Amino acid sequence: MKWETVIGLEVHAELSTATKIFCSCPVSFREKPNTCICEVCTGMPGALPSLNEKVVDYAVRTGLALGCDINRHTRFDRKNYFYPDLPKAYQISQLYAPICTNGSLEIGGGKRIGIHELHMEEDAGKLLHGEEGKKTLIDYNRAGVPLIEIVSEPDLRSAEEAIDYLTRLRTLLQFIGVSDCKMQEGSLRADVNVSVRRYGEAELGTRTEMKNLNSFHAIKRAIEYESRRQIDLLEGGSAVTQQTRRWDDRLAKSYVMRSKEDAMDYKYFPEPDLPELIISEDKLNKIKSETPELPEEKKRRYRNELGLGEYDTELICSDLSLVRFFEKAVDLGADPKQTANWLLSEVLRMVGDGEEIPLKAESFVKIISLVSENKISRSTGKAVLEKAFSEGIDPEEYIDKNNLFQISDISDIEKALKRVIEENPKSVSEYRGGKEKAFKYIVGQSMKALGGKADARLVGSLLHKLLDR
Ligand SMILES: [Zn+2]
Repeated sequence: MKWETVIGLEVHAELSTATKIFCSCPVSFREKPNTCICEVCTGMPGALPSLNEKVVDYAVRTGLALGCDINRHTRFDRKNYFYPDLPKAYQISQLYAPICTNGSLEIGGGKRIGIHELHMEEDAGKLLHGEEGKKTLIDYNRAGVPLIEIVSEPDLRSAEEAIDYLTRLRTLLQFIGVSDCKMQEGSLRADVNVSVRRYGEAELGTRTEMKNLNSFHAIKRAIEYESRRQIDLLEGGSAVTQQTRRWDDRLAKSYVMRSKEDAMDYKYFPEPDLPELIISEDKLNKIKSETPELPEEKKRRYRNELGLGEYDTELICSDLSLVRFFEKAVDLGADPKQTANWLLSEVLRMVGDGEEIPLKAESFVKIISLVSENKISRSTGKAVLEKAFSEGIDPEEYIDKNNLFQISDISDIEKALKRVIEENPKSVSEYRGGKEKAFKYIVGQSMKALGGKADARLVGSLLHKLLDR
């Protein structure tokens, strides 16, 4: 391995505010095209933007969670370019005085990835391309949806590190409630900058940028492909050209979109329609006090106060829907360890990645407490849980109706065991003659006689009492 890959990521996250960044149109992804629009977000002449305070709150909240410096005097700039999805022909963004700078995010192995800056901007509309050569339609519902762009330093060294960083960043944004980060809906997307250099070289190589990648899978493959392509070029005696490339995940290839582009090309200038934004001490403190528990704080609490192990903690905290379910169950009085155990072994296998759990926490808590009180067997518990999951049945009603409660009266169990012993004299004498296997057979017959509704360990110990005297 002579070559080192150097990666920087620019992550765009759509904020989950109720309204857009510069107007009061709703932020919605399921409405009919062009129904959530107004003069401001469609760039009508004379329409003026007014900043959504929630966007500032969310940007600062994220900046604080990433350990950034919050710039108390910040402002917006115009990024000028023409494209049909951008009706004003400029995007309101931040270049000269971004709201947050100089943070970091820790990834696996304790490595810290620098955050160069975080800034606020507006999203563009969406082009809906028809068949090749046919019409293209434009939906402006997304125009003016608030975005934060989080720009990392070029501190990442492999596709794996990039995915680790993105995974943690996504978890963080979800946990602090600023974005739902649904990559399939485009609410989290990344521009990937890749360059290569020989190990030990201090200077960075020439980089290329791949824009708007919206799946971890595509990002990983794009980095690996681009790194390989650049190494091949350099080893073949050619040079890497600075350019923007388009990643085609279907063909697993990247293509040139346009060559070198600098800030100059966008003719940035301060946005004249918005005043300087001043963030007061009070405002900053208010945002701090409203910030929910960060992922690392949550993990520490799970380990130290709830007594969960490392593995369970990491797994639950990898997914906000698991966190919500877990905390609800614990709030309802369930034992945290039992909850983690059942959640991760029995519930998780029934839920798709990132899906909400369609199970009532109340039903879940009822089932695991019935099992731990030995009122139903563990296997009955699992079966009832599946029913509650898929059909929403009421656990107690279902268990009662189907006669699944365990027999808890010891004299009833003993009566049944005595009958089994009488009916299986051969196995009994084999067991007494030292054959362990015969004992297992007797346990099996006993469980059968009890209809599976007794605690197997209790049956075992009662049998020993009856047979070993
Ligand atoms: Zn609007």
